[in-house]
Amino acid sequence: MTVIESRASWGARRPRSTSYLASARGVKAHYTGGHVDPATLTDHDACRVAVRGIQRGHMNGNGWSDIGYSMVVCGHDRAMIGRGPHVLPAANGAGLNSGHYAILVLVGSSGVTQITPAMKKAFHGARDYLRERGSAGPEVKGHRDGYATDCPGPSVYAWVKAGAPLPADPPKPQPPDPAAPPEEDEEMPEIVSLGLEDEVVVPPGVDYQPWWTAEWKDTAGWHPPGGQSIAPNTDVWADVVAHVSLRGFTPGDLVRLGLTRHQADGTLVDVAWPNGRLWTVRADLDGRVEHDLAGHFKLSSANRARVSVRHAAAGEVVLETASAFKGILHRYA
Ligand SMILES: [Zn+2]
Ligand SMILES: [Zn+2]
Repeated sequence: MTVIESRASWGARRPRSTSYLASARGVKAHYTGGHVDPATLTDHDACRVAVRGIQRGHMNGNGWSDIGYSMVVCGHDRAMIGRGPHVLPAANGAGLNSGHYAILVLVGSSGVTQITPAMKKAFHGARDYLRERGSAGPEVKGHRDGYATDCPGPSVYAWVKAGAPLPADPPKPQPPDPAAPPEEDEEMPEIVSLGLEDEVVVPPGVDYQPWWTAEWKDTAGWHPPGGQSIAPNTDVWADVVAHVSLRGFTPGDLVRLGLTRHQADGTLVDVAWPNGRLWTVRADLDGRVEHDLAGHFKLSSANRARVSVRHAAAGEVVLETASAFKGILHRYA
């Protein structure tokens, strides 16, 4: 929601006079035409300083009774009240001020020159405010519509001409799952490289055969060097997404895939996820299997996590890839 800021909040001087405006057809967008301090993108106090400077220029330089704009919007999704609703603005050009309220977008011809998503939201907030409080109509135009000026500059004007669309909202964060394990420790490295270095031949009917011959290449010591798989040096939750590809089947051959827990010597402990289940898939028309495995499971420092393959082909097949493209370890209490 756009925050509507009072004149006092940005330190406005009192107007010398005001002229009543009963209603308007809509709003017109403006830019400063000059330099806008890039600090206004991060620091709202810089926005207030800028607006005070504009008011000073309009009152002292132009000799106007107040800042010329009805509202000023910035990159903090804030709309600062200038002359405000039901007051004649001064910024639209001679004879045009009774037609539209004037909204300044805090961009200029140097420094900040591009309208941001937050400015677009704030512009909508200002327009809604002027509709509700100032009887503004639905029109949205730029200063240059009907007046010889380059205002509101290319970025704001292109947006206005496109219909002033609201920016798409970013996806909402999901509420935390109370059953989820604790947040991962900042120190925990992400697994960046894990999997096979070379293709390997998988003979038929071998149950739970682990096939990770290359390991996570971390430098933080999260598992001992020279291992064959995820081998943490403390008890962790492991989140793993692994891709497996095999070739050499007859189309339709059955294949079972799993993420399995092993002892350090390779002895199978159990199927780690999901709940002891394996993925059963069929070879495609090219005699290939491509499958992603996703697992979330506890892994003790005595365990290793691996991809396991068992298949019902008549002969040997070739395991081309068994790689984790995502793997994160979380400490658990
Ligand atoms: Zn203008
Ligand atoms: Zn601001």
